[in-house]
Amino acid sequence: MNIEQLYRQVIMDHYKHPKNKGLVADSSYLMIHLNNPSCGDEMTIQMHVKDHKIDDIRHQGTGCSICCSSASVMTETLKGQDIDQAIKIISEFYELIKGYPYNPEILKGDAIVYQGVSQFPARIKCATLAWKAVEQGIKKIKEEEQHG
Ligand code: ZN
Repeated sequence: MNIEQLYRQVIMDHYKHPKNKGLVADSSYLMIHLNNPSCGDEMTIQMHVKDHKIDDIRHQGTGCSICCSSASVMTETLKGQDIDQAIKIISEFYELIKGYPYNPEILKGDAIVYQGVSQFPARIKCATLAWKAVEQGIKKIKEEEQHG
């Protein structure tokens, strides 16, 4: 098995057996909904932040295998992270997706399987949709912090 086949297998595994999938009925969670019209992907993210840390993160969506699997990988990558660290991880993920060098000390785990996406520019939005939702959520939390 070559590395591309291995990566594809990890992506399909997250697609078929997603982690942290399903929303919770809890108003203390911040909810962000994004869609990707070019592919038809729809993604809702719920995140719970306590003491500056993402202590829970959920996803629910419909779309292609890249988008849905990436949401699962994102929750595994960012759950338990400090929100400032999460922003750093997300920006390293964007570098990886664009085919640029990324910092493997910051971006770890299954997220690296998406590095092949840079060869398919139309799929970049699919791979980053869930990550963009969390980024928006963190920005909102930080704005609220600043304005008391
Ligand atoms: Zn898609």
